[in-house]
Amino acid sequence: MTRLALLLLLISLLLTPAAAASTRGGTATVTQDFDWIRQGQVGLVRVSGASIANVEATFFTTRFRFFRTFNAELPEGLQEWAGILAAPMTARIGFHETAIIVTYNDGTIERIDERIRVAHGEFGRQDLILPTTLTPLLEESVNTRETAVLQALIGGFQRNQFWRNGGFIQPSDRYVSSAFGTWRYFNGMRQSLRHTGIDYPTPTGSDIIAVADGVVVFVGEMDIRGKYVLIDHGWGIFSGYAHAESLIVTVGDRIEQGDVIGSVGSTGRSTGPHLHFEIAVSGIWVHPLVFIPLINDVITE
Ligand SMILES: [Zn+2]
Repeated sequence: MTRLALLLLLISLLLTPAAAASTRGGTATVTQDFDWIRQGQVGLVRVSGASIANVEATFFTTRFRFFRTFNAELPEGLQEWAGILAAPMTARIGFHETAIIVTYNDGTIERIDERIRVAHGEFGRQDLILPTTLTPLLEESVNTRETAVLQALIGGFQRNQFWRNGGFIQPSDRYVSSAFGTWRYFNGMRQSLRHTGIDYPTPTGSDIIAVADGVVVFVGEMDIRGKYVLIDHGWGIFSGYAHAESLIVTVGDRIEQGDVIGSVGSTGRSTGPHLHFEIAVSGIWVHPLVFIPLINDVITE
């Protein structure tokens, strides 16, 4: 090879556009739809690229799996995937490294490192008086046992995307008497866990409705939550309804948004009739009123 030919070859290699590599995978684009995620809240991460077979991210120690979305603005041949990342209520404030793993149809794997900022949850405090008959439920072991049962359920994952574009609704239009993440002091004693959901004071016997399509994965009586239903909406998203007076669904039931699943009561560790409503994403309890508008913003395929 002459010196000139070698030079031309080198120039042609240097001029080869990086995008050419995408024919065998690579160069996905990551967009964070937020400036920060507050403790106990969620943020949407979008990944776009060609010939993508799977996307997932590790944020803190949790694995978040992305799903395909519909985005009419994307150029032909590109796809968009979305992941709902949740920051635990106990997450340290500041920047956290997140590895996004994109697997392409040809088996190529690309790792994209992102930094996500976690901001303070701005949680409140609430003092409640519990009658002496219910004070045994303040024992730490009661909480530990119930948390373990629930954690095993909300850590589950299935690829059926039940909610689709019908999205999520709020279970009540009443005011919220106890906010998400509040430190609860029962009879002056602080509980070890923050409030995992939100409370709507509601008369006994009122309907409890499902907030989105899904499958019932738990129906039963718990020490703290009382009569409780947990619905799996797919893709690691769950909704829970606590302190019911009665429940009319069974495990395995397919539920549609707005279906009545039971009636409001005051069972379990409760100081009066109310609906405790909670949402979990990939095993993490998140602020329901932040989660709902965010998920409704994502158009699925
Ligand atoms: Zn509650």
